Amino acid sequence: MRLAKRVSTLTPSSTLAITAKAKALKEAGHDVIGLGAGEPDFNTPDYIIEAAIKSMEAGHTKYTPAGGLPALKESIIAKFQDDQGLSYTQKEVVVASGAKHALYLLFQAILNPEDEVIIPTPYWVSYPEQVKLAEGTPVYIDGLEENDFKITKQQLKEAITDKTKAFILNSPSNPTGSLYSEEELREIGEVCLEHDILIVSDEIYEKLVYGGATHISIAQLSDQLKKQTIIINGVSKSHSMTGWRIGYAAGDAEIINSMTDLASHSTSNPTTMAQYGTIAAYNVKSEFVDTMRVAFEERLDVVYEQLVSIPGVTCVKPKGAFYLFPNVKEAVKMNGFANVDEWVEKILEVEKVALVPGSGFGAPDNVRLSYATSLDQIQEALTRIERFVKNNI
Ligand code: PLP
Repeated sequence: MRLAKRVSTLTPSSTLAITAKAKALKEAGHDVIGLGAGEPDFNTPDYIIEAAIKSMEAGHTKYTPAGGLPALKESIIAKFQDDQGLSYTQKEVVVASGAKHALYLLFQAILNPEDEVIIPTPYWVSYPEQVKLAEGTPVYIDGLEENDFKITKQQLKEAITDKTKAFILNSPSNPTGSLYSEEELREIGEVCLEHDILIVSDEIYEKLVYGGATHISIAQLSDQLKKQTIIINGVSKSHSMTGWRIGYAAGDAEIINSMTDLASHSTSNPTTMAQYGTIAAYNVKSEFVDTMRVAFEERLDVVYEQLVSIPGVTCVKPKGAFYLFPNVKEAVKMNGFANVDEWVEKILEVEKVALVPGSGFGAPDNVRLSYATSLDQIQEALTRIERFVKNNI
């Protein structure tokens, strides 16, 4: 056996798998509509691209400190101050090669074998795998559909054991788009403080909230909660910079320092010119983030109505991110399929629409559709799904 045990139990990302399949069909000449994408369909704004080009022309093509450029850390610190009123020092911030990498470094830095990490379902696909890679044990609690897929403080209390090390909070959530209110965050925060559980708050969709809702970070609710929380964020979703690979973590200096040391021996610094682009993303005033947010909200309102009119499909209306996470159990049953995975595969084969099955997110009755694609395309995709459902009843 050549492979290490740690990779033998790794589940490949279902999101990337469906995207690859759809791409292969497209390349073979099929008219495929991919609703699997986890990235905005906007280009990175020009002012960010120009800043990165200028940085290279000015000779910034070398290593930076492993934890990121001091100037970028300052931009991130200013962002926390402006958006949440949170004060961090440079020692409390580490820049990584994407939020995914920041999370990876964090779990490597805090988990010992058998430490438990509580993960609400439905979850973003990489959380359980990253916890397992750090030899931790994921413990799941069900975010119930009737509670907008959110967990309650009672559920959290019941999941805590003497091995619980951390709790992952992702608001707004991928895949459900649910958003925790201040009251709910206070309740969850109290439980975490009482049991000294580290809160990992993944706020990557912070800027994409709808219906007049506001994003609140659990760390801004009290000084104690700030100390108990590591915030994960980045520019992939807010500034449509998925390919630039810049994310970061903020919180306890000792943890941040260890994450930086880990990065120094694995990736070294995040790509230098991408860091310069990110400084511009945060320092230059621009309408871009809000323009994109408004475009997503308009699409959401239109496609949500079309989606829930499909027989056998119900959906909690999301309050953030750019995904819809409908329950399709009835449609799958009406169409005579054994499970959602097989139904999704058939829809790709027959109607050439790529959806992501909910099983990869710990929610086997649901599918994830991204509306980070043009309105015409999503409407056409939903028309095809409706045709498939009706043709197979
Ligand atoms: N966290 C969540 C919930 C996500 O959906 C994603 C990307 O899909 C990430 C983190 C990772 O983002 P990044 O591109 O910064 O690595």
